[in-house]
Amino acid sequence: MLAHHSLEVPTVSRLLFDMPIPAVPVVGEDALYPVRRVFCVARNYASHAREMGGDPSRDPPFYFTKPANALVPGGGDVPFPPATANFHHEVELVVALGAPLFRASAEQAARAIFGHAIGLDLTRRDLQLAARDQSRPWDLGKSFEFSAPISALVRADAPITKAAISLTINGQVRQHGDIDDMTWSVADVLAHLSQYYHLGPGDVVFTGTPEGVSPLAVGDQLVGTIAGLGELRVTITPPV
Ligand code: MN
Repeated sequence: MLAHHSLEVPTVSRLLFDMPIPAVPVVGEDALYPVRRVFCVARNYASHAREMGGDPSRDPPFYFTKPANALVPGGGDVPFPPATANFHHEVELVVALGAPLFRASAEQAARAIFGHAIGLDLTRRDLQLAARDQSRPWDLGKSFEFSAPISALVRADAPITKAAISLTINGQVRQHGDIDDMTWSVADVLAHLSQYYHLGPGDVVFTGTPEGVSPLAVGDQLVGTIAGLGELRVTITPPV
């Protein structure tokens, strides 16, 4: 067998199986925005930091990530996830990068934005809090299938600094606030994150949630809104 083994590098390679590239619609365009990475800011509204038992200080932001295939582009059905009895919603402004960004200032970061969307950082709160209380990573609580519904992106030349953000469940308002309540602005977050990563096109950032997080049940109808970005509609469906 060794006699037939070639050390030549093949010039054409192929994948062993098909795997879809996660991608998000862009309002008014045919082409999709492909997603490489999903970063999330853990606490970015003083009101939510307090309801989670934290200190709404000006400590630097901190992050967790979700796999890109956790995105649910355009919203729709989200099956109730396994292994949780406390499945929470967090409505968030999402910012997508359109240019490389590394060790950037807030001013540079503001110019690297592709656009914005409405996102839901869906959370297995019981698993997240158990991990937090044991000083363990949050992956089981935050990074799971269907955990990141996202609306179509709206292109922008500059970051959103002020806009009403809200979430209703079955027609009742559960979360509301304003983007200008964020401790760290969109540009601040991107500049800070760019100290740690070579950011670029394909990277999206969930920028944190206002207060009012609460448990979800099968059948719940969620509508997230941010002024100027339209709506994100999600229905919680039975487990799969
Ligand atoms: Mn969140």
